[in-house]
Amino acid sequence: MNKPRVAIGSLGGTISMTPPDSGGGAVPTLGAEQLAASVPGLAEVAELTAESLLQLPSASLTAAHLGQCLDWANAQVDAGAAGVVLTQGTDTIEESAYYLDLYWQRDEPLIVTGAMRTPRVAGADGPANLLAAVRTAIAPNSRSRGVLVVMNDTIHSARWVRKSDALSVETFASGDIGVQGRVVEGVPNYFQRPPTRLLAPAAKRPFPKIALLAAAMGDDGDLADAAVAAGYEGIVVSAFGAGHVSAAFADRIERLSKRVPILIATRTGGGRTATNTYGFAGSEIDLVRRGALLCEWLSPVKARLLLGSLLASGCAREDFAEWVSRWGKVCV
Ligand code: GLU
Repeated sequence: MNKPRVAIGSLGGTISMTPPDSGGGAVPTLGAEQLAASVPGLAEVAELTAESLLQLPSASLTAAHLGQCLDWANAQVDAGAAGVVLTQGTDTIEESAYYLDLYWQRDEPLIVTGAMRTPRVAGADGPANLLAAVRTAIAPNSRSRGVLVVMNDTIHSARWVRKSDALSVETFASGDIGVQGRVVEGVPNYFQRPPTRLLAPAAKRPFPKIALLAAAMGDDGDLADAAVAAGYEGIVVSAFGAGHVSAAFADRIERLSKRVPILIATRTGGGRTATNTYGFAGSEIDLVRRGALLCEWLSPVKARLLLGSLLASGCAREDFAEWVSRWGKVCV
């Protein structure tokens, strides 16, 4: 029987990093073919095409790079791939997977994976992650789930996945929403039904400058003024608790939200912004009154990508509230 075809595109990251002969820390060196060749048994699972798309640490990936990856992934599906796997650095997987998910319209799975350990160290996790990603990509029950992150034999939805530990192999988590499934004996077992797909409106221009500002004790939010003066077209505030900032920051938000959209997400790493619990100056109720939008379950870094996508689409500012509210909800 013909094996399903899977396209593997490599972007760099720890999974591809080796130290140079001259010594020093690891840098991206291995390409997609070398990664695929390093996985025992991979060629028996699927017919592979492997292409090195980029060779970057994931900190240097941009929305423009991801747009190129989307074009490539769509072309692979058009050419008959049953699924597509991208390998990249784990530092920004939660962002890149989410950005790809905003635009991935296919039923075929688009899987993002990487590694926490470089390929030459004992217990390197890259080969196992790549094998699990390819197995997930070919599984019929992976279809219509949008973009998935497969790491450490767990399958996460791009919308909710976060890197939760700087160095541990067990780092990806999806908080209260939980993992989509696990790869057991090479087979994806899903715990959740395919989610309602949400797609961003088509981009009409490049991703704009969006400021991500973290609230911190004693901060009056003056960087928000600096951001707007520097040409940032939108602001996401990584806010305290359930969506709170200082009273002084709230004053700025009221003034600046007349010029640029301002989104409020929780900096806590879990839970969601409240809607009607607190009434103090800088509370979630107050910030909505002052023109900000609450991101509910959406994390600050993902909210930044959503806001940039909305601005890039040219969609009317009065429709932003509806978009943000729809994307901030958990729809299982
Ligand atoms: N910890 C990162 C990784 O696992 C560092 C490198 C990167 O993000 O590209 O890949």
